[in-house]
Amino acid sequence: MTDLDHVLTEEERLFCDLLERIVDERIAPLATGVDESGTFVHDQLAVLAEAGMMGANLPEDAGGPGISAPALLRAVAIVAGGCGSTASALTAHYLATDSILIGGTGAQKADLLPKAATGEALGAFGLTEPAAGSDPADMKTRATRTGDGWHLKGTKCFISNGGVSDFVVVYAVTDPEAGHRGISAFILPRGTPGFVPGPPERTMGLKGGHVFTLNIDCHLPAEALLGEAEGQGFKTAMKVLDNGRVEVAAQCLGMAEAALGAAKTYARDRVIGGEALAAKQGIRWMLADMGLELQAARLMALEAARQRDLGNRFSTAAAMAKLKASEAAGHVADAALQIHGGYGYTRDFPLERITRDLRIMRIYEGSSEIQRNIIAGHMLA
Ligand SMILES: Cc1cc2nc3c(=O)[nH]c(=O)nc-3n(C[C@H](O)[C@H](O)[C@H](O)COP(=O)(O)OP(=O)(O)OC[C@H]3O[C@@H](n4cnc5c(N)ncnc54)[C@H](O)[C@@H]3O)c2cc1C
Repeated sequence: MTDLDHVLTEEERLFCDLLERIVDERIAPLATGVDESGTFVHDQLAVLAEAGMMGANLPEDAGGPGISAPALLRAVAIVAGGCGSTASALTAHYLATDSILIGGTGAQKADLLPKAATGEALGAFGLTEPAAGSDPADMKTRATRTGDGWHLKGTKCFISNGGVSDFVVVYAVTDPEAGHRGISAFILPRGTPGFVPGPPERTMGLKGGHVFTLNIDCHLPAEALLGEAEGQGFKTAMKVLDNGRVEVAAQCLGMAEAALGAAKTYARDRVIGGEALAAKQGIRWMLADMGLELQAARLMALEAARQRDLGNRFSTAAAMAKLKASEAAGHVADAALQIHGGYGYTRDFPLERITRDLRIMRIYEGSSEIQRNIIAGHMLA
């Protein structure tokens, strides 16, 4: 992602350069093993905590480094270029801490964000339900007031980190008559009686970034409600997802960069019929198109990140960035695998893992169809 360097401050460049070294030395070498073993990326997140990445989405007063959104884009891409599972678990943690940053009270921020920024507390973001993914406003998880707090009951599914995190931000209906304005968020700590995560789902990729079904039938204290008032949850979740979609774009950029890098190396080294693959026009044009797609995706992600920093509404820019980057990255990884021929299809090269890890980027945090709906809705408003 060196093409983004010019928009970073000197300090941010140093932060990213150091991160790149750490990822190259301590995270990327583990990526194939994680994919094979399916072990959750606890150790990799601990390395990222040392590098200051667990709170990289947070301002300084919340315990983060206070870097710009373009710097965060670059940093997440660096992690994803080394290990997709680690980047996915990291950005799921950001969805949880962004929920608290955007929707929490001063006390909730002071209590959880510094611990989350140092990696002492890992977060998860609990929005999706078995019958409410693309349309989360249709959720059924219910929070009802009790004498001294809340009773939270329902099932969340596909929750990244949800069975291993220290807390989950759970979105639930507090007023069934009020539609999406009747949704609130709650902080659910691990170990709360009645909170039972299932085993990790068996997924196609991101094998070290586990997702869980969460069965919830719990009593929570009054202060578990995120923020001062009920009914703010949906608005918070949508703002969190605007940030999250730029982070999905960053993951796509990082993984696609890695795939393109591998394809360039292979094309230079592989000799067919007396000349390197890289000398053949058909391969050169494939590489050119891969570079073109990636650069278009990068610029759209950068635009969304800049809008975020300016404090503008950037839902459409974020949807465009996520859609473009996830689809471009899918094409780039597929072309990179093609350039590797039969070797690309084996586990001796990283392409098949990257291809599998990337597939979910067109589905989670709003599928490509949902991003198109957001973009069209904006165009036709
Ligand atoms: C690995 C992984 C990690 C995840 N992590 C999290 C997490 O941390 N937290 C969380 O809350 N969720 C998480 N999710 C859930 C994810 O966000 C949802 O799977 C996603 O939003 C899609 O919802 P769904 O699976 O219910 O699909 P559905 O909503 O059932 O959609 C099925 C298909 O219909 C299409 N579709 C739906 N509505 C429309 C429409 N209006 N117009 C056109 N097409 C439409 C969709 O695009 C999709 O192709 C994760 C999922 C996975 C697999």
